[in-house]
Amino acid sequence: MRPLLSLEDALARVLASAVPNQPVLEVALIDALGAVLAENIVAGVAVPGDDNSAMDGYALRAEDSGRPLRISQRIAAGSSGGEPLLPGTAARIFTGATVPEGADAVVMQEDCREKNGIVTISAPVTHGQNIRPRGQDIAPGASVLGRGRVLRPQDMGLIASVGRAAVKVYRPLTIAILSTGDELVEPGSGDLRSGQLYNSNRYTLAGLLKSLGMNVIDGGIVADDAEATARALSDAAADADCVITSGGVSVGEEDHVKAQVERLGQLALWRLAIKPGKPLAFGRIGETPFIGLPGNPSSVFVTFCLVARPFLLKLQGVTEPANPYLEAAAMFAVEKPGKRQDYQRITLVEGPAGLQARRFPNQSSGVLSSVSHSNALAVIPPDTVVAVGDRVRVLLLDLLA
Ligand code: AMP
Ligand code: MG
Repeated sequence: MRPLLSLEDALARVLASAVPNQPVLEVALIDALGAVLAENIVAGVAVPGDDNSAMDGYALRAEDSGRPLRISQRIAAGSSGGEPLLPGTAARIFTGATVPEGADAVVMQEDCREKNGIVTISAPVTHGQNIRPRGQDIAPGASVLGRGRVLRPQDMGLIASVGRAAVKVYRPLTIAILSTGDELVEPGSGDLRSGQLYNSNRYTLAGLLKSLGMNVIDGGIVADDAEATARALSDAAADADCVITSGGVSVGEEDHVKAQVERLGQLALWRLAIKPGKPLAFGRIGETPFIGLPGNPSSVFVTFCLVARPFLLKLQGVTEPANPYLEAAAMFAVEKPGKRQDYQRITLVEGPAGLQARRFPNQSSGVLSSVSHSNALAVIPPDTVVAVGDRVRVLLLDLLA
């Protein structure tokens, strides 16, 4: 048997072979959530465009604040800033309104008294207070967001703030998924006979891919048969940017994926030093990249997150896929050191002294509940024991999507 491959080595090889080449599309900004930016957004304007008031109140010169001031004008949001402010006067002003030339402070109305057109200030005033300076968010010509970034809601807002209504993004990848196994039955197609189970991996994988903004082609269930496997793989490869299978990559006689990918392209079969998820196949069918995930439902999820996700994101044009690791106190013990890096399914909860990691009781790779009832993976390195209270590294699942 070949030695187990570390996750880092597997990932390095997988990422080295991901060559992003997606065409660029222009889409309406409102539809760009989750898309990968294919241009550098540069601001053509300052945000905000003028010095403006952060409060409802009075604009004045700070040095005038000790004496009663005549109210010379009223400036509402959306108006262009009024007349220059004469010394010894104040302007009634509202949040977001442009501060008039000459004023260098805004006093909130709660600290002012207005009577007969005269305002008296009852609080100390400092130069610049309550004024949001022009360009404080974005200076004209500044780089707003860079190519290769996944657009989040706040990014859409930021791009809108510089006046853009359309953006260039990379065309979403189309991924074909195949579920291998004679024991599989599609949910909704009838009751199970003994020895059968419903195809859950198809749904997990479709969900994972959709949450990355990718299109899914469902190649259905593939029988444990050499010819059927070859046909399904080559059909899938013809239509997709990448083919992902689940199951059939162990070393059993009914595991046909490996041999057929070798026939149709090129394959590396790795035994990864991680748990769950030891067997992982990677290669190509013709020129289409191929990833063969293990069959066990928890292994599918974990290997997708750790290996397939970074590969696909890079292929999609993402320059820096974020892996949101945190630290938490283990609320469980690992008494026997393992040979493989263990990804324990845990729930992060806020404890009195910070984050705590509570482990799902059954960590078997076939138990998909362990993933559903968790929000993170705790990383237990090989040859490591963990005592209750020890700090462990955790990978947030919900941000991974
Ligand atoms: P395999 O790698 O094909 O031997 O599959 C390993 C385990 O995962 C077996 O117990 C399978 O029944 C199970 N499995 C494989 N594919 C799926 C699937 N699509 N949905 C649910 N379980 C699966
Ligand atoms: Mg199988």
